[in-house]
Amino acid sequence: MSYGNDKDNDKYSINLSKKILNSIEAPKDLDLLKCIQCGMCTSLCPAAAHTDYNPRDLIADILNNNEIIIKDEKIWNCFYCYTCQSVCPVKNSACLANQVIRQLLLINK
Ligand code: SF4
Ligand code: SF4
Repeated sequence: MSYGNDKDNDKYSINLSKKILNSIEAPKDLDLLKCIQCGMCTSLCPAAAHTDYNPRDLIADILNNNEIIIKDEKIWNCFYCYTCQSVCPVKNSACLANQVIRQLLLINK
C-alpha cells in the first residue's frame, strides 16, 4: 500500500483524506470527498449492527482529519463485506477507507 511521499508519512501532519485517495487500492472514481453523510452505509453495515463501529462516523472523522481515528481499536470491527461501498450513492467506500486507516494505525502504534 502506498502512502505518498515521506512528508506525508509524518504522523504529526497526516492528511487522512489524501492518504486514502492516494492509496494504491483506491479506484480512480472514489468520491471520498463527496460523502453526504446520508448514513446508507451504516444502515446496512453488519459491523455497525453488532458493535460500536460506524462507517459513516469513520468517513466523518476522515473528512474532519480527526486523527483520533487512527488510534481507535473499533476500526477492527469491519470485516470487509463491501456492503457500504455497494450502497453508497456517491461512490465512496468506507471499506477501502478503513483498510488505509488500519495501515496508519499499525504504523503509528
Ligand atoms: S460513505 Fe456514502 S453511504 Fe456512507 S454516509 Fe457517506 S455518502 Fe452516505
Ligand atoms: S465493509 Fe465494513 S464498514 Fe462496510 S458494510 Fe461491511 S462491515 Fe460495514
